[in-house]
Amino acid sequence: MISGRLTALAVAVMALIGGAAMAVEWQVVRQQNREYVTFANLAEFYQFPEYSHANRTISLRSDRRGIRAQAGTSDIYINGVRFFTLFPLGMQGNESLISTMDVGKLIEPVLRPSRIPNAQKVETVVLDPGHGGTDHGTANRWGTEKAFALDVALTAREQLLRAGYKVEMTRTDDTGLSLEERAEFANRFTNAVFLSIHFNAGTGGAGVESYALAPEGVPSSAGGEHHGAAADAEPNAGNLQDGLNVALTAAVHASVLSRVSTFDRGVRHARFKVLRNIQIPGVLLEGGFLNDPPEGQRIATAQYRQQLATALALGVQNYDAAVNYRSNNTGFAIVRANLAPHAQSILEPLQAHAAEPLAPQKPSISISAGE
Ligand SMILES: [Zn+2]
Repeated sequence: MISGRLTALAVAVMALIGGAAMAVEWQVVRQQNREYVTFANLAEFYQFPEYSHANRTISLRSDRRGIRAQAGTSDIYINGVRFFTLFPLGMQGNESLISTMDVGKLIEPVLRPSRIPNAQKVETVVLDPGHGGTDHGTANRWGTEKAFALDVALTAREQLLRAGYKVEMTRTDDTGLSLEERAEFANRFTNAVFLSIHFNAGTGGAGVESYALAPEGVPSSAGGEHHGAAADAEPNAGNLQDGLNVALTAAVHASVLSRVSTFDRGVRHARFKVLRNIQIPGVLLEGGFLNDPPEGQRIATAQYRQQLATALALGVQNYDAAVNYRSNNTGFAIVRANLAPHAQSILEPLQAHAAEPLAPQKPSISISAGE
């Protein structure tokens, strides 16, 4: 049964997070065949000096970072960016719980991207403008999704080339391609990332949402559009890099939100065909709702699409820097500030973008044996 496999996976996930230098122990709570930890335990492990849980609002803070969540929901904000948790938050007495899967596959890669295994320096960016040919995608009175997506991709290509990346595109004109063909194309490249660009449609919606491939056993949190989504519990080729998928998606999503003023519909998880079988880290961006009158009109402006393209290019660069960050400290003893374990969050660039300057680091120093 699925529950048994999940439990085994959760244990493996916790083993993954537990670093040799970590003194804090996880106290795993089991509920309904799923494993959880308390937010207090999370705060301790990631060295957030402030933790509070009042009126259903959970808050973890340090001078540079923050996690905020609402008890009983699937919404969590990390450094101000919205994520859907893989499983709903749990409760034990007055304490809120977060699943160990969420800790291992969401919190960990976002807070400590430089520790994700198998990260590679990005050389090539594969851009995938959604739809094309007879498949127009969604549309409004000003244009079609396929045309807007292509325009964003072409502009992002220029900026990425200028930043020194190679860029490959699944289509550079109004050509139709299947979702399988797009994935096959992406798989020709190594040291690469994949960005699929779409616009949304749906009732009562506006804002931007970004998708990473759902980890094995995790339900989809797809919103409006559906791109061959499957609810299967089978592992997919793309699941080999769950951590990198989330890191890329978070970096791109944060970059978009810091440059485009719109609703944050969150980093989500789905099994879109185009993400399932790619062997490089991938993200699918829904850059706004064409059928929402004000947003649809904005998407039709060259300025909005330029901002999106810039955000995509910078998101890739932020991801590249964060997952490949290496400390200068080598040798058998590492002198580290007490904030060091998450000093290079994937969302750092969003924080740096804020008006308030970051507080200078003046924490106490501890010495630990090399990892
Ligand atoms: Zn689409």
